[in-house]
Amino acid sequence: MKQNGKPTALIMIFGATGDLAKRKLFPSIYNLYTKGKLERFAVIGVARRPLSTKDFQTAVKNSIQTSNDSPADVNDFISRFYYHSHDVTDSSSYTALNQLAEELDGNYSLEGNRIFYLAMAPEFFGTIAEHLKKDGLTNVRGFKRLVIEKPFGHDLESAIALNKQIRTAFSENEIYRIDHYLGKEMVQNIEVIRFANAIFEPLWNNRYIANIQVTSSEILGVEERGRYYEKSGALRDMVQNHMLQMVALLAMEPPIRLTTDEIRSEKVKVLRALRPLKAEEVNDYFVRGQYGSGKINGEKVPGYREEPMVDKESNTETFVAGKLMIDNFRWAGVPFYIRTGKRMKAKSTKIVIQFKDIPMNLYYQTDQTLNPNLLVIHIQPEEGITLHLNAKKAGQNMEATPVKLNFSNKGADGMNTPEAYEKLLYDCIRGDATNFTHWDEVALSWSFTDKISEVWENTKEASFPNYQAGTMGPKAADELLEKDGFFWWPVTDLDV
Ligand code: NAD
Repeated sequence: MKQNGKPTALIMIFGATGDLAKRKLFPSIYNLYTKGKLERFAVIGVARRPLSTKDFQTAVKNSIQTSNDSPADVNDFISRFYYHSHDVTDSSSYTALNQLAEELDGNYSLEGNRIFYLAMAPEFFGTIAEHLKKDGLTNVRGFKRLVIEKPFGHDLESAIALNKQIRTAFSENEIYRIDHYLGKEMVQNIEVIRFANAIFEPLWNNRYIANIQVTSSEILGVEERGRYYEKSGALRDMVQNHMLQMVALLAMEPPIRLTTDEIRSEKVKVLRALRPLKAEEVNDYFVRGQYGSGKINGEKVPGYREEPMVDKESNTETFVAGKLMIDNFRWAGVPFYIRTGKRMKAKSTKIVIQFKDIPMNLYYQTDQTLNPNLLVIHIQPEEGITLHLNAKKAGQNMEATPVKLNFSNKGADGMNTPEAYEKLLYDCIRGDATNFTHWDEVALSWSFTDKISEVWENTKEASFPNYQAGTMGPKAADELLEKDGFFWWPVTDLDV
């Protein structure tokens, strides 16, 4: 499969004229190329629109940052891109696509390795997979891998149907379900922070941790994605995948080895231990919100219901806060609070681990209370870790004051960390599926969130819109924690 240790493959991108291909995939492949991680490869762009290979290559060129690179490199890079105009629902053009694939395989010595990247609307996934098999594109002498974007289904039932369809052509270990959060540097770092530090692992349980908070907030609204978002909402768009994945990484047991199977199986156990919600409990554990108009950076912005392609009476949530309980020995009694939303005050993805108070406070701070220790993992836009401690305030009195120990990834590396897509694409080419979602994780996550969406879809939320754009969500999200004697640590105060 490999020669000179460098992986080799033909990458077919379905949806090659789309936004994802342009913004993420072409630049990621280019970065891998300039770093010398890809040597023998070719790309076939597939999309419906008629386009010449030359025009496609120009589009690829425009999508990559070329300022620091010699034109020779760029020209060699884009010369490996080919275009095939093709309606994925039309059987006749798969044969021609296969011919082109065979030809490139020979020309570039690609050893029959193929990656099929579906950067298209999910309703096409099943049809494409079936055609790939029927028309012989998966009949290769090397490896074949399918990469698919979220959403993987709309609920458990549709996810099962979709999985069945793609499994006709690919086995589970050939399916790479992208969750781009799993490619983020600091999400991958959760494991290392936990399992490579003697000071954390002994404390990482219900004896020492009071609660864990995971926030992923955006300033942007729904933008042009109203049509998609109306059917999705924040629960399907963020909680079912990214948020539950982060919780699984925070809560899992140490794997016996750092192999794909061992890590995934520990994550699966966390998802199996999530306390399932009965319909009548949903609104005790979960809060939904929808943004109204407001001001962001001094500019007035419309409410969700005024956005393009959105129903004027929409019942779709643009914010979710929830309390998850993980019923196992390690976590019994420790709430994991999650919240995510659009049009919030700050763009931030952060994890706050709040440790329990010490048994007795001997010291005073100016406000008479001692801050709990916090470990903050900054996922984006900053990347880093902050440990909040209490230390002596300089001066004569024995007064305690909060101090922060910071580690900032950007500061340490002095360069931007690689884009999540670049890492994931490289993992896929090398055949490492650790940072992709296994079917068992997808199924368990859907069965958890389905209970919530069933209740929310059957009851119209009369209070919508219930939070102003530019705020941190509805009041009920604060009350969710207040009931337990906690509060959300303000993400903006926790910056590195
Ligand atoms: P897009 O609408 O910009 O592009 C869709 C592509 O599919 C285009 O190239 C179009 O030509 C092609 N296409 C549509 N119908 C076709 C047909 N019948 N035959 C052949 N080609 C056809 O979409 P996008 O934003 O690039 O997103 C693609 C997928 O990635 C979606 O599943 C989306 O949910 C997911 N995704 C996108 C982003 C993002 O940043 N854009 C992020 C996460 C997930």
